[in-house]
Amino acid sequence: MKNIDEIRADFPILGRRVYDKPLVYLDNGATTQKPRVVIDALADVYLSYNANIHRGVHHLSDIASEAYENSRETVRSFINAEKREEVVFTSGTTGSINGLAFSIGERFVNKGDEIILSHLEHHANIVPWQMMCERKGAIIKVIPVDDNGDIIFEEYLRLLSSRTKLVSITQVSNAIGTVLPVNEIIAAAHTLNIPVMIDGAQGIQHGVVDVREMDCDFYVFSGHKVYGPNGIGCLYGKEKWLSELPPFQGGGDMVDQVTFEKTTYNELPFKFEAGTTDYPAAIGLATALGYVTSIGRNYIEQREKELLSYATERLLSIKGLKIYGNSARKISTISFLLEGIHQYDTGMILDKMGIAVRTGTHCAQPVMKRYGIDGTVRASLCFYNTNQEIDTLAAGIEKVIKMFA
Ligand code: PLP
Repeated sequence: MKNIDEIRADFPILGRRVYDKPLVYLDNGATTQKPRVVIDALADVYLSYNANIHRGVHHLSDIASEAYENSRETVRSFINAEKREEVVFTSGTTGSINGLAFSIGERFVNKGDEIILSHLEHHANIVPWQMMCERKGAIIKVIPVDDNGDIIFEEYLRLLSSRTKLVSITQVSNAIGTVLPVNEIIAAAHTLNIPVMIDGAQGIQHGVVDVREMDCDFYVFSGHKVYGPNGIGCLYGKEKWLSELPPFQGGGDMVDQVTFEKTTYNELPFKFEAGTTDYPAAIGLATALGYVTSIGRNYIEQREKELLSYATERLLSIKGLKIYGNSARKISTISFLLEGIHQYDTGMILDKMGIAVRTGTHCAQPVMKRYGIDGTVRASLCFYNTNQEIDTLAAGIEKVIKMFA
């Protein structure tokens, strides 16, 4: 088991300075930093075996294709999907949801049908469904949230009906940290045979994800939020759904036979992987998942719980600081405001102290509106953060308050 210094040493960027102060990186919800093994894996592709996958008969293409398909197997095992065919590489969560919204819309949605979302969704899990609903004449229904930031389950049950074509829900709110009761949400939808998509963009990096145990029909996530490279992500789908859905992009590799009259499609998962995918990033993602496994997902979950509880207590001791999102089930993300001080001012002053936090609406305007605010400061912590960094944040916030006093 590595100690925290050894873990931090795995992430070269954490050792850098910003404005001549040690970097305190608390913006992990936006993107995580990369361990050296991931950077090395990417470099290794380009340095020693770069070639387009699934195309050539030559040696390098064979190695790259094998590494890419092994990466798919790593993802399958990480999320415990039943089959490799159920794991589609995409450009990320946004790419996955846009693709799925198109395919589901084309195949299953008609005028007057409904899609259920929650009030906690990231724009990436709102706008693609809206675009599809506009095309198809369908309607979005929204599960409300209470003052703590929990969805109101009875309202959800009321929304489910024979008109519901899909429930698309985040596993964890990126804006306020709530962990949603996805197992219960899925079970309730399944009593009416309604499929459920889980947006795992903020879920996969914080603990064990088991799509079979969850029984979700689709699960999507981004590599860059789980210590992997940018530009890669996944769309997991149960085979029975993926085989029924039409592809969302056409091009090379996703086809079987092409004539000018008609095209037949490749088998799963290639039907959904048109064109040259970012195979180096897929290989980097698999390396990141391997790294996470080596640290231990149970360890990560436990350590982040400790960080959340330390940070919550520390920040709540600051007079004039209000936390938004007080669910009993939260990941290590704290959204807050300082009385009378705009979030941008807070964020910009903290930045000058080397502390990186996110400010604004966090691409979740509806939930900000729900609480009558136009944004927050968000500190999103992960297992490589330390209590000392939380102390630095708290001291920085005290300084901000003094400056505005
Ligand atoms: N869904 C949630 C809950 C997110 O937090 C994010 C990004 O912050 C996304 C979707 C979109 O992810 P990406 O920008 O990697 O596609």
